[in-house]
Amino acid sequence: MRLRHKPWAKEKIESYPQYVIGNPKQYYGKWCTLFDNGFPVHIEVGTGKGRFITEMAKANPEINYIGIELQESVIVAALDRLIDAELPNVKLINTNGEDLRKFFAKSDVERVYLNFSDPWPKKRHEKRRLTFESFIQVYEDVLVNGGEIHFKTDNRGLFEYSLMSFSKYGLLLTYVSLDLHNSECEGNIMTEYEEKFSAKGHPIYRCEVKYQN
Ligand code: SAM
Repeated sequence: MRLRHKPWAKEKIESYPQYVIGNPKQYYGKWCTLFDNGFPVHIEVGTGKGRFITEMAKANPEINYIGIELQESVIVAALDRLIDAELPNVKLINTNGEDLRKFFAKSDVERVYLNFSDPWPKKRHEKRRLTFESFIQVYEDVLVNGGEIHFKTDNRGLFEYSLMSFSKYGLLLTYVSLDLHNSECEGNIMTEYEEKFSAKGHPIYRCEVKYQN
């Protein structure tokens, strides 16, 4: 996602530490102290403007959600949603998904969502794909045993690549749809990108995979 540079974004992010966690390391191994409940934590890596994570938090008050987003100029849009929604069970972290191990201990997270991740179609950029082997290893290191990744995209090439990457890693494929919006899957919450691409007639691909540890 490319957005106009917003020089004020950093200052705005810093002025809402109740929503964008400034020092996530302090919650390493003890995220329950932040949310002050015993509910599981689900994270979305590459959360963009935050529609999915906010609507999921509204729909599932018994789950704590954390959106991980690299770009300051994008995460401020997600921050605006959180300010409006005033939900106790959703937070944001402005960081690179490859650094999750710094903030989450093994078993801190129960599920990882990847929605419309950047496809990085050139082979030389393969390592940047959020479903590249090194990212799957990072997710394993923060997830509970038997934790899950839920992935959706409109990009057929990225979807096929990801299915192969998950399978090569030894993950169990528990759900797959090649046309989510014409499937029987209920309760789907659309992301900003999903709305845009499905309006153009693109089919939406979705899968769920599970670690076998
Ligand atoms: N998930 C949103 C949606 O479906 O509308 C946004 C999709 S957008 C194509 C991908 C987002 O992932 C961008 O905002 C980008 O900055 C973010 N992103 C890409 N690589 C990332 C990484 N390594 N760590 C965190 N965020 C990342």
